[in-house]
Amino acid sequence: MTPVNSDHLTTLSSVLGFEHHIGLQFLAGTGLIKLHNEKTQSYSVVQAEWEKFILEEDLGDIMESVNRTTVNTDVGKRKAYFINYGNKARLKHIPKDQLTSKQLHIIDRQLKFHRQVSKAIVAMRVSNNQALGGRKNSVCSASEAEECEDEEELEDTTFDPDSVLISDADAPNLASLLGESRKRVTKSFLNNLLLEMFKVMGIKSNAVEFDYKNGTKGCAILVPKVKNYLSFDKQARRLQWMKSLLNHIAGPDSMEDAAQWITTYLGKHYEASFTLASEDLGFPLVERMDEVSAEAMWSAANVNVVQQRIIRKHLKFCFGNRIFLPSKVFKDDRTHYNVETYYGFYKFYRNGDKMQKPEKCPFWTRDSSEVVCKELTKLLDYSSNEVSTKLSSICSTSCTIIAGADQGQGAWRSWIKISTESGERIREQMATDSNYDPKTSYLISQVAHITCKKDNYEILSNTVAERLSSGYEKLQTSALVFIKPPSEQSKIEGVFISKHASNVQLEHNLSGSDKCHLTYYVTGREENAFTFKNVSEETFEQNSKIVCIIPSFQLFVTGDLAFYADVLGMPNSSSYWCPWCLSSRPEWQMLPSEQNSTERTAEFQKEMYEKILQDTAKRLNPVDKKGVSCQMQYKSLTLTNFVPPLLHLEMGMVNLVWDEFESWIDNEVEMIPAHEQEARRKVSEASQLLEVAIAGKKEADQTINIEIRQKKAEIKVLKGEVRKVRDPGTIQHLHATISLLESSVTEQTNALNEIKGNVKKCQEQVAIWKKKLSDYKIERGKPEASIVAEIEMLLDQYRISRGSYHGGDFNGVCCRKLVGNAQQITFEIRRILMAKKNEKCDENSIEKKMGDLEQLLGLLDSAYAYLNILYPNEDEKQNAKKAVSALMAFWRSMSLNMTLKAHVIECHACPFNDKWGTGDKEESFVEQGHQVGARDNSRYARLTNFVKKSESTLNARQQSSHPLVLEQQQKIEKATKKRSNESHAKNREMKTEAKRVKRETYVKKIQQIHKIQ
Ligand SMILES: [Zn+2]
Repeated sequence: MTPVNSDHLTTLSSVLGFEHHIGLQFLAGTGLIKLHNEKTQSYSVVQAEWEKFILEEDLGDIMESVNRTTVNTDVGKRKAYFINYGNKARLKHIPKDQLTSKQLHIIDRQLKFHRQVSKAIVAMRVSNNQALGGRKNSVCSASEAEECEDEEELEDTTFDPDSVLISDADAPNLASLLGESRKRVTKSFLNNLLLEMFKVMGIKSNAVEFDYKNGTKGCAILVPKVKNYLSFDKQARRLQWMKSLLNHIAGPDSMEDAAQWITTYLGKHYEASFTLASEDLGFPLVERMDEVSAEAMWSAANVNVVQQRIIRKHLKFCFGNRIFLPSKVFKDDRTHYNVETYYGFYKFYRNGDKMQKPEKCPFWTRDSSEVVCKELTKLLDYSSNEVSTKLSSICSTSCTIIAGADQGQGAWRSWIKISTESGERIREQMATDSNYDPKTSYLISQVAHITCKKDNYEILSNTVAERLSSGYEKLQTSALVFIKPPSEQSKIEGVFISKHASNVQLEHNLSGSDKCHLTYYVTGREENAFTFKNVSEETFEQNSKIVCIIPSFQLFVTGDLAFYADVLGMPNSSSYWCPWCLSSRPEWQMLPSEQNSTERTAEFQKEMYEKILQDTAKRLNPVDKKGVSCQMQYKSLTLTNFVPPLLHLEMGMVNLVWDEFESWIDNEVEMIPAHEQEARRKVSEASQLLEVAIAGKKEADQTINIEIRQKKAEIKVLKGEVRKVRDPGTIQHLHATISLLESSVTEQTNALNEIKGNVKKCQEQVAIWKKKLSDYKIERGKPEASIVAEIEMLLDQYRISRGSYHGGDFNGVCCRKLVGNAQQITFEIRRILMAKKNEKCDENSIEKKMGDLEQLLGLLDSAYAYLNILYPNEDEKQNAKKAVSALMAFWRSMSLNMTLKAHVIECHACPFNDKWGTGDKEESFVEQGHQVGARDNSRYARLTNFVKKSESTLNARQQSSHPLVLEQQQKIEKATKKRSNESHAKNREMKTEAKRVKRETYVKKIQQIHKIQ
């Protein structure tokens, strides 16, 4: 009837599309409301008619019956009629808002109303023109009649601001009580009157109840003014005014409801106060999560952007608020710390055969010196003091960079590991802080990627080698200066200068400009060489400062031995030639003292390659070439930069030991006939082939299949075009394109079918050989599992299993576990062998073999454990030497194969360890890189475009390796780690000590037997 807060949208007439007063007249015409007071033009609702209307029009499911509700308006509480659609609890009763799409058929009714009203208005205009001329605001509902004031009277009166006018209409009782003096009543008089009335009416309490003229209850509550919460609480208890308030709002039985309404209202409008109050009361609220914490969580759980959105949506639904703050830091940083990425594409023809379909090898690479610079400036920009002291420790020595590369999971990836802390400092921390994690002492970043099935010299040299090489060269010859501009927000810049620079400083006013230049002196390295001053071209803002200088970089390369061979320009030689020295396989078999231990140098490699180029007559002997056949790839790196790859070496040796042991079981313990061994070998071969075939099919489904579909769609489009085009030349061209596409589709479909057929064939092969094997076993009278199978089950209990990635070998982690638990495992195996051995097999030979195996595994454990010590001291270096010589002496006495890996451990690992330390340079970070790569693949599996996929990956990685994110992750790890108490730490200490003692015993035993010093 009456607009709430003068908002016409809140009236029924508005939703019907009427001018308010015409709408009222119309509704009166329908009988739903009636004119209540002729004079004031006020209407009242005829409730019974509405009920009837809802019933007749079958609106029960969307409308409630009419109700009267008190609403807060600009002029105080008022009662209004409400015709509710949908949600009754909505505060603003704007009918249109309450309509949902389901309820839109109400609009039809509106149109019907419109037609009727047009007729009604015409009729009314004719019959009663004057009735329409009434004032707009004169229409009120009956219940609010008392609020319709006579405005004219007010306008005429003028009075003293301190006095109050008591009008007969407003306050007839007061007026008659005061008589003539009513025109000069002061506010203070009324004030006193009010207080007196409260005193008279409010017995004991300070709330006074009264009745409005229309019968509704009113309540006046005296609200005390307070200074702080303490007095608020005191007054509320004493005066009980809050209780009165709640009681009045909802009645004595629903005070809880009223309290809830008020709390909700306050929580909504005074969010901060509400949160603080809840915390005070000990009800934790979900706080909004800042972007760094959120990113730390997303990256730790490997959640991609789409998944993030879904989770955010659910959390928002659950907790009401958006609980994450929007991220901006990362967007800005992405551009600032971005390193340019070069993309390329190489077609690799296997064996140079151009008739064959080439393997497509897309690749990307980055300048590693740029990566180092950006990563370190990022670290400095966001570093706390702790990080700065860390970095300053490398400023006094040098920064170690390890470049590692490896093939795995369908791609070749090259990573660099940048140390951010000096070795000395790390040792110190490890000794003093038991919670110290050496993982915090370096950064890892990928610098190159090639998608290929197997890396080789040709692919490497045609894709990333040159760029990588120049990046490495820059690092090897440079120092890095960090410069901070004066303003707080601006970021640090890194500048590479010659590593022979001295007296590095920022100078002002060199060229008359107000900028700074970086200047330094460089002295030639020969005697009596000139010293000259260099001025950098780049300029820096005035008052910029040099934060720190990394004086030099120590660069090392790690990877498997085949990779070293490739890099050195001697591909496919790794089973015969050593990358570190000029000895070959036959020489490795001799004792170290009898070998040709001439170092292989970069000069030798270069000279030999020159000789080969000139050797057109092919007179050079393979023995003279010493494995060299191509150019070196990383020109600046010499052999001293190559780290003996501990992980690969250990894996190779442990697997060799284990293979030998298994074949000994087959031949000596189980005495398996040759044909059964053959069948067993065939089963494992066929299983491996099957795995390869299945992987191939999976890949084909993702690539060829998609291509076929795309081409088919293209054909369809072209065919449609043929029908439209008239020009014969164009038609011919289109037909040619179509038939080309069609033939390529047929070709690809055939290829796909072949791949599928291959899988089937492999499956058949596996089945055939499995059947044969079980037949042979039954023939021999041993249908149950073989000893080897049982041993594998035993190893499973130690979580040691042969992975499919390494061609059925144990991976690095499994090798560690195997050698670490040598004693228990050999004990258990001994039991299995004794129980299941062939009758002809001698128990003593089993005893001896198991003893040897334990000794061998134990020695492998000690040698690699000593070599893996981070930044070893002299004692530890000596221990490593002793362990290695004991291992190799025993290795030789067991007549195990002297492979290149065994040779490298015997001759090259310890000299390297003495000089640089191998522990921090082992290649497991490259292995972890493959896992990161696999994770990224699963994150961005849907992206088929190589460049887009790489960019998304690199962006996501940059974000998750942000210093703030890493810091947060470390914090969380520390906080959750706290549970491990002292007894845990003691336990760990004891275990470490036990291991150390065991290792020493293994080594000492062999030292005594072989009399090694
Ligand atoms: Zn060698």
